[in-house]
Amino acid sequence: MLEDGICDSCLGRFFSKLGNEKLKEKGFWIRKAKEALENRKFTEECLLCGGVFNRMETYEEMAKEVIKNYEFETFAVGCRVDGLIGAMEELVFETHGSEWAETFKSHFNREIIAKIEKFGKRFDPANPDVLLIFDPEREKMDLQVRPLYVYGRYRKLVRGIPQTKWPCRECRGKGCERCNFSGKMYSESVEELITPFFLQEAKGIEAKFHGSGREDIDARMLGNGRPFVVEIRNPRKRHLELKSIEREINTQNHGKIEVLDLKFVSKSAVEILKSAAFVKVYGVKIRLEKKVNPEALHDAVKDLSGIVISQRTPKRVSHRRADKIRKRKVYQIDIKSIDDCEVELVIVSESGLYIKELMTGDEGRTRPSLAEKLGVEISVEELDVLEVKGGI
Ligand SMILES: [Zn+2]
Ligand SMILES: [Zn+2]
Repeated sequence: MLEDGICDSCLGRFFSKLGNEKLKEKGFWIRKAKEALENRKFTEECLLCGGVFNRMETYEEMAKEVIKNYEFETFAVGCRVDGLIGAMEELVFETHGSEWAETFKSHFNREIIAKIEKFGKRFDPANPDVLLIFDPEREKMDLQVRPLYVYGRYRKLVRGIPQTKWPCRECRGKGCERCNFSGKMYSESVEELITPFFLQEAKGIEAKFHGSGREDIDARMLGNGRPFVVEIRNPRKRHLELKSIEREINTQNHGKIEVLDLKFVSKSAVEILKSAAFVKVYGVKIRLEKKVNPEALHDAVKDLSGIVISQRTPKRVSHRRADKIRKRKVYQIDIKSIDDCEVELVIVSESGLYIKELMTGDEGRTRPSLAEKLGVEISVEELDVLEVKGGI
């Protein structure tokens, strides 16, 4: 190896498992001994690492840049050896054996980890805030920053706002006459009213909104609110003042939407939220085509309580959802008020029940329905989600 040209660090690495000296020192003494024995000099131009271990400050500088620009506590490192370095190492291991050797990758990582730890950062490969992937041969580094996840609940106090940004159906987001060149079906959404505040505070590049189900655009979301998680990608700041963000969102969106219970969660919260089937409480105001006997209404409501409803995909969503039958349970229906043909009900049901169709019957696609039980046509005037039971 000395004949071919090797640096002290790489030379020492072949004796990594022997003795406790630093690899560079091992290499140094082996070289000295060999040079004294043969009374000659060997070059330190290294065929193995191309001088990487004499350029460790370069990689330290790269890490320092990250430290300067990103707030983080824990880190992990990766090392690419897919080029010449990896090929040379393989060849040398084959030719000279690797009984006491350590790999380039492990050696490099150990050195760079020690340097980053000196800046007060903690090496935590299982749960790193940032992952620095070095490419020593090309003198490059890639950075992966763990997203931030903030859980909360939102209330939507007005109708007509979708939960998430909805691209224009006509132009698919490009902008056209129909959408007034906004590219959107609705000018705002819960997502757009909430996420910019997190993005701005965390100095991230993108935020994603994950809701636990969604209410109809024309339905309000009241009571304790609906659980959601905001995922902030590539955050430069990780310590956010959630209380002040909450205040800011609620002030800026006063009377429109509100958030509450903000807290940091892990990535798994998104999956939990997406698969959760929280029981829902709805308030619905309906209009009966003609007056019915209050007795009959009480009976119909009682009949529907505690039974499973069979719903074929409603006509109003059939253009975007597969046509199938879904079965969901109604736990309880209570009559809140009866005013001539206008009736207000409170419905407790399993997650995913289409409430409007439970009222109208959707031309026989939902069975049984209140309209079917009463034998009159029903139209839904207002729908609110009063409570989402459960959360994380
Ligand atoms: Zn070397
Ligand atoms: Zn458009």
